[in-house]
Amino acid sequence: MEIEITDFEGVIYQYLIWKGERWKKCEECGKWIKIHKNSNKIKYCLKCAKEIQFNQKKEWDRNKRKR
Ligand SMILES: [Zn+2]
Repeated sequence: MEIEITDFEGVIYQYLIWKGERWKKCEECGKWIKIHKNSNKIKYCLKCAKEIQFNQKKEWDRNKRKR
């Protein structure tokens, strides 16, 4: 068995995935997030998703002001 264990917390989630649950790591902070049936495209945890959305809005407002 060749599973590289990089973090202890990951082991728990690897086990849950093995059991059939769907988990993935947030692309921003690396926090584990559970994937629900209707959220296949999820990339970030709730906190990062909010932050990214906020930053995008800020960026958008800044671009709008330039014109
Ligand atoms: Zn995150």
